[in-house]
Amino acid sequence: MRTEEELLCDSHCHFFSTRFLEILTKDVAGLPVTDRAASVAAQLGWDAPGTPESLADRWVAELDRHGVARSVLIASVPGDEESVAVAVARQPSRFVGAFMFNPMVPDAEPKLARALSTLRLRMVALFPAMHRYRLDDDAVGRVFEAASQSGSAVFVHCGVLSVGVRKKLGLASPFDLRLGDPLAVAAIALRYPSVPVVIPHFGAGMFREALMAADQCPNIYLDTSSSNSWLKYHPGLTLEAAFRQALAVVGPDRFLFGTDSSFFPRGWQKPIYDAQAAALEAIGLDASGRGKIFHGNFARLFPAPGDTRH
Ligand SMILES: [Zn+2]
Repeated sequence: MRTEEELLCDSHCHFFSTRFLEILTKDVAGLPVTDRAASVAAQLGWDAPGTPESLADRWVAELDRHGVARSVLIASVPGDEESVAVAVARQPSRFVGAFMFNPMVPDAEPKLARALSTLRLRMVALFPAMHRYRLDDDAVGRVFEAASQSGSAVFVHCGVLSVGVRKKLGLASPFDLRLGDPLAVAAIALRYPSVPVVIPHFGAGMFREALMAADQCPNIYLDTSSSNSWLKYHPGLTLEAAFRQALAVVGPDRFLFGTDSSFFPRGWQKPIYDAQAAALEAIGLDASGRGKIFHGNFARLFPAPGDTRH
């Protein structure tokens, strides 16, 4: 186990459940009617997810193996909130539930209310480029309103969006990247200063805009997850330089470490952690700053049940 100083919390993991695979492939012809998820998983070279209970147990074992104390699990297609809710109810001290949500669907409000109250999920994940809506739409305002009332966070995917599983399955992905703009996130984040707003992957290519948004809005957080391949859009930019620049603008209190881990058997992505830890070491961030990024900020945003320190 890690010491208190080295505690590790992962703010960005995907819970790729059986139901997730079923919903994702509902319009794909030629798949078996029974055990469809297992067949899709086999096609992808993944282990079949099984029941949400067994997948939750597998995640716990995986986090234990790597000394990760807690993790956000994201239900990664609308309609799969229940699977993550099962995992959270099973291990409330280990998991924080998040869910992909499309505010433009009919019955959005009751669906949202149910996820945030009955199912006890704590972060709404918006993908405006995927679901093709503007962040200044009234429906998005209603999401922030609900988040504000329930004390939840809102995650907004910005920048380049490439969903590996959709690509591998050949699913159409007509994303409109213009809709995921950190400056549009800033406009709504300002209206709801009590709602923590997470922009993943340093803005995924909209690095400058993500820093501008976070500089303007003290409630905007940046998540560091994934291989950060967006660096390729910025000539000569390295992960070290990105961290140095972002820390200079935003400070260490508004970064959330994440890996973007998702399927098994690959499991938790330790190489992502190693690369980020090495980058922060290389730029000389002190232990206090590292502690905030790797667990302290997570614990403040998502206090564990019974933890009254934050
Ligand atoms: Zn992700």
